[in-house]
Amino acid sequence: MSDKNVKEIEDLIKIISKLPGLGPKSAKRIVLKLINNREDLIKPLTNTLAQVYKNVIRCNICGNLKSINGKCICSTKKYDQICVVENIADMWVIESTGIYKGHYHILGGTLPSFETKNSGNGLLIQSLVNRVKKENVKEVILATSASTEGETTSHYISDSLKGTKVKITRLAKGVPVGGEIEFLDDGTLYSAFKNRNLLPNE
Ligand SMILES: [Zn+2]
Repeated sequence: MSDKNVKEIEDLIKIISKLPGLGPKSAKRIVLKLINNREDLIKPLTNTLAQVYKNVIRCNICGNLKSINGKCICSTKKYDQICVVENIADMWVIESTGIYKGHYHILGGTLPSFETKNSGNGLLIQSLVNRVKKENVKEVILATSASTEGETTSHYISDSLKGTKVKITRLAKGVPVGGEIEFLDDGTLYSAFKNRNLLPNE
């Protein structure tokens, strides 16, 4: 197959090579696979993508993904622990280890390291405080990364939770400095969870 003259193919390769872990070479292989399986792959993929685009949104309370027509897990199940993560990938990693069974709160990023007092920079922080107050939460586990931004965010959140009486813990320092949760092995994550540190809340 030559992709030199077909604009549609070139466009598709460009889009697919933007996906994580894929360069132009693997993007071309994927496109070739798609082209050779129009009915089995292109058709269902097109439909599924359209459905996801139309129906899947972020919950504005917990930051998790939810169906536009359904209720989010944060409003249907009760837990007394909330684990705060930066993004959905981090939540999936923690979930896959089976270490933790409670609720999650997905911030949608971190605060810049120079941030001090502001409104939280568009992250779902005020919404976390509201959840803690409303849902009778016993513990907030801060599982932001060990980067400067992750630490700044963790401090900002524990400051914001002052006065709520909730127990605030932070993943243990087993997480390497600059360590992204997403790339930790199960053993490191397990011990970081198990040996989490209590932060002052008064
Ligand atoms: Zn939710």
